[in-house]
Amino acid sequence: MHKNSMNSNIISKNDGAVQTVTGTIHPNELGYCQSHEHLFLADGPIARKYPALRLDDLEATCAELELYRNIGGRSVVDAQPVGCSRMADLHLLASKRTGIKVIASTGFHKLIFYPKEHWIHQMDSDHLTQLFTQEIEKGMYVRCDDSKPSEQINAKAGVIKTASDEQGPGGEYEKLFHAAANTAVKTGLTVLSHTEMGKCALEQIRFFSEYHIAPESIVICHLDRVLTDMQYLMEVASTGVYLELDTIGRPKYHSDEDEARFIAKLVDNGHENQILLGLDTTRERMRSYGGAIGLDYMLTSFLPLLRSFGIDNDIIGKFTISNPAMAFSIKTHNQKGEQ
Ligand SMILES: [Zn+2]
Repeated sequence: MHKNSMNSNIISKNDGAVQTVTGTIHPNELGYCQSHEHLFLADGPIARKYPALRLDDLEATCAELELYRNIGGRSVVDAQPVGCSRMADLHLLASKRTGIKVIASTGFHKLIFYPKEHWIHQMDSDHLTQLFTQEIEKGMYVRCDDSKPSEQINAKAGVIKTASDEQGPGGEYEKLFHAAANTAVKTGLTVLSHTEMGKCALEQIRFFSEYHIAPESIVICHLDRVLTDMQYLMEVASTGVYLELDTIGRPKYHSDEDEARFIAKLVDNGHENQILLGLDTTRERMRSYGGAIGLDYMLTSFLPLLRSFGIDNDIIGKFTISNPAMAFSIKTHNQKGEQ
């Protein structure tokens, strides 16, 4: 499928810019976008623990992005945050080389991904806020998985990653969520929030709402890992946040047909303007790394399946073009929290 076959809905000119690693763009320039991928993951503490996650080959990632571009892909949100094996310098190189626009993440991931001695455990909330804000306003830090952030490049982060495990945003996560929420309020950037199998989404949304962060500036990830509790999923949808559905082409969780049925149900319930799609790629699913599917799987396989479930091109264009453009644009007017 090519982008012309999908309806690129009009974005109001009042909406802010989208910040990519190669600069800010008008939301209309984002084009077809998968909203949760991992393009690189350094050979560091995470990859030593989970070798299936390592993605550190510039040539292989560029080959994958070319597959994606050749079938209509134009942009990607990368969900790996600072100090957590993110390779921001390679994002910049890959984006320049392939022309794919990359929205990179600052913020934090699940604590299981940080070794005991990692600086994130020592840094207080004010310093974390400063760090995240710097990454958005000045440029991202590189090579800071094993040492405190010191080396900065010009490329800026365009989204704030947050994550909780099954305990939600409290406890040892509280200072991190506090810093991310303050950064969102200061910068107007959207939060991209990992949930563990979809759990604690409502707790996360409640936390952000205490900072007056609008639902339009919140993306909740992995809501489709488990599709059994429909009442809970519809309750999350009713808050108005963006619903990121990224468990596609992952039969160990459920079939793509089940995913398509779930999406059709969300559309029937009036949530088509909130849906974002992604593959949450790892080494095991990136074809150029020998993986099972490829970054082009959405366009080659899943979207055609979705059409067979009655979701037409206009609606698919929302999920992949106009919803990402709105979700990842800077929205200072939505945020009236503390400065
Ligand atoms: Zn992810």
